[in-house]
Amino acid sequence: MDEKWVLITGSNRGIGEKVMLKFASEGYQIYAHTRLMTSEFEEKIQNIQRIYRVSIVPLCFDLTDSGAMREVMSEIIHRKGPLDVLVNNAGIMYTGMFQLTEIQKIREVFEVNLFSMMELTQWAIKLMIRKKRGSIVNISSITGIDLGSGQCAYGVSKSAVAAFTKTLSTELRNYGIRVNAVAPGIVDTCMAESESVMREREKLQNQKNVFSRIARPEEVAEAVYFLGSEKAAFVTGQILRVDGGNHLKN
Ligand code: NDP
Repeated sequence: MDEKWVLITGSNRGIGEKVMLKFASEGYQIYAHTRLMTSEFEEKIQNIQRIYRVSIVPLCFDLTDSGAMREVMSEIIHRKGPLDVLVNNAGIMYTGMFQLTEIQKIREVFEVNLFSMMELTQWAIKLMIRKKRGSIVNISSITGIDLGSGQCAYGVSKSAVAAFTKTLSTELRNYGIRVNAVAPGIVDTCMAESESVMREREKLQNQKNVFSRIARPEEVAEAVYFLGSEKAAFVTGQILRVDGGNHLKN
């Protein structure tokens, strides 16, 4: 049977780590991207390899460093991959009213959340086009769909991720490559520990139904796996909300 390979950005913690665990548990070989290699990450990788008997190749670079990205990705391309799935997970958050936000801050957020995603996707597509198959899953956010105040940087960048996903899906259909996105609500990771997110968490917890809670990163990972894998073989150009239906009116 053919080995299947997935590349996950920001796999060292949060949602990315759970996505790595899910793909490993399904027998995928993994390119585990991280900004920095640490002994903690090294240990995590070794444990996952031992438990699931898969190969994990760490890829270390800052996503905003084009030169470093080129060095790592051209090496993979030189070896002819393979690459079946790309999960563009890494991201940064910033909340602030537009008038009080320096343009440089907005640029920084877009640099990580959108431009580096686009750049890495261009590299990944080179490998997928050769095989005329592949799947890309981008992590957007409900903040990018239900835009509100304070979201001129993060929310707008995640909106752009959703728009990028749809546009790219139309271009890559001809090559048998699917492109989808997951748009989580608040997820229990370090990113959800800011003051503004804490207020949202409290609001949710005050509505008394079984879905009035924040998501576990494992729940997002399941959705990412579904869209990335052959289980979603006929799904492309979709933005899947993973928010417990909390946007729906009672
Ligand atoms: P975390 O803050 O826990 O993890 C973010 C990851 O992105 C880390 O691995 C971090 O690396 C990496 N990263 C950030 N900037 C760079 C960079 N310049 N170069 C390389 N790696 C970078 O966040 P989550 O796991 O919660 O978020 C994952 C994705 O899910 C993000 O795109 C986020 O926007 C999205 N999301 C999260 C939600 C939430 O409530 N948590 C809700 C909706 C969407 P390092 O450890 O080195 O900093």
